[in-house]
Amino acid sequence: MTTALSIARDVNAGERSASSVLAASLAIVAARNEELNVFLHVDYEGATAMAAAVDERVAQGLNAGPLAGVPIAIKDNMCQTGIPTTCSSRILDGWRPPYNATVIDRLIAAGAVPVGKTNLDEFAMGSSTETSAFGPTRNPLDPTRVPGGSSGGSAAAVAAGMTPLSLGSDTGGSIRQPAALCGVVGMKPTYGLVSRYGLIAFASSLDQIGPFAATVTDSALLLEVIAGHDPRDTTSLPEPSPVLVAHVNDGVAGKRIGLVRELVEGADEDVVNAVNSAAEALRAAGATIVELSIPELRLGLSAYYLIAPAEASSNLARYDGVRFGLRVNGDDVTAMMEATRTAGFGAEVKRRIMLGTYALSAGYFDAYYGQALKVRTLMIDAFRRAYDHVDLLLGATTPSVAFAFGAKSHDPMAMYLSDVFTIPTNLAGEAAISVPFATGEAGLPIGVQILGPGRSEAQLFAAARVLEIADGRP
Ligand code: GLN
Repeated sequence: MTTALSIARDVNAGERSASSVLAASLAIVAARNEELNVFLHVDYEGATAMAAAVDERVAQGLNAGPLAGVPIAIKDNMCQTGIPTTCSSRILDGWRPPYNATVIDRLIAAGAVPVGKTNLDEFAMGSSTETSAFGPTRNPLDPTRVPGGSSGGSAAAVAAGMTPLSLGSDTGGSIRQPAALCGVVGMKPTYGLVSRYGLIAFASSLDQIGPFAATVTDSALLLEVIAGHDPRDTTSLPEPSPVLVAHVNDGVAGKRIGLVRELVEGADEDVVNAVNSAAEALRAAGATIVELSIPELRLGLSAYYLIAPAEASSNLARYDGVRFGLRVNGDDVTAMMEATRTAGFGAEVKRRIMLGTYALSAGYFDAYYGQALKVRTLMIDAFRRAYDHVDLLLGATTPSVAFAFGAKSHDPMAMYLSDVFTIPTNLAGEAAISVPFATGEAGLPIGVQILGPGRSEAQLFAAARVLEIADGRP
């Protein structure tokens, strides 16, 4: 599969048709989806019509947009009119959204061709796609291992070459962690940069949509298309989409980059080695590397597992058998709701609802939820102090390469620890990118994470591009 950038260029130049690009993409889906379980739904009819519409524009001599004819996979927690949207949960059985998420509208306006909906951990709660009600996704690089999660299907779609681009959502690491495990580029943008309108809420103060791509430039291209103010999301930043692609090759000369002890602590040796070589590569490209410690980052996981479940317990209250999807009948309304929620939610979602409800309950609110919010403020202050001294931070994305199915699924704590390096960025509302750099155990990819303050996306892409080149992908 060629890059999105070259597909859009060729399609706009009339050198390739969007329909032929789509056919090539669907051929790979047909060859591998049964084995990998990447797509829960493929929209053959809609995608074919959208590709034809792009070809029609080109035939009329019009520019078909920056993503003309580029097939894209969509995580199945984003709404697309008339397309089954499940969040990988039985509770949404049969539900079809009556509207498009803003990101879908923007993709279509840019000429992209959404091909279908990808598998995820149920309601995006997990780090392996093993909590999906529709079975796990397999890692295309080693089908005995997980692709990461929760956006495992979207990461795998790009890694398997099914689509050059995909969208994921990142609440605590769900773009960056699967990107790392599948060997692709994953970016969690600044909170508010990409509209959440039409993204099914997990933890609203943390959720953010972002891009997956095989290259840094494609990742920047996709973010440019989906970012920018949206009046339908009250938390949307009041500014237009940033200029990103034009800065991808800006490099890191003169930048100060902090190598953070807490962002490699406890990681496997191959991962630590990769981060150290990444630091060397950035230094060789003209950056100054400063070793530093931000002890507050160690508190991230515990604060997250109070705040995220608290918000989830409230957001998921709407699935009551009345308005959406599944209904299991009972003798009265209460019995119906109980039966519906018992049958519709999987074990991890129930665990989060119980945790969150407990954390918010009278008598415990201050001790748990209130305390977690204070920790969140400490985290924000700690990052701010770090960014007084350095431009960007560097660490690992995840403690290990892709793990085997079942390795952590019976131990929630072990699974939660997969996101120990990614969660602080979400709590602070800032931006971070995972870029493949070097390989580890069994030749599997390692993701190196670069973090920056809010709105630092252009700098993050430029730094990631330096690592991409140093890793031999010009
Ligand atoms: N793995 C984390 C969790 O289970 C993060 C998930 C996400 O970012 N959606 O909550």
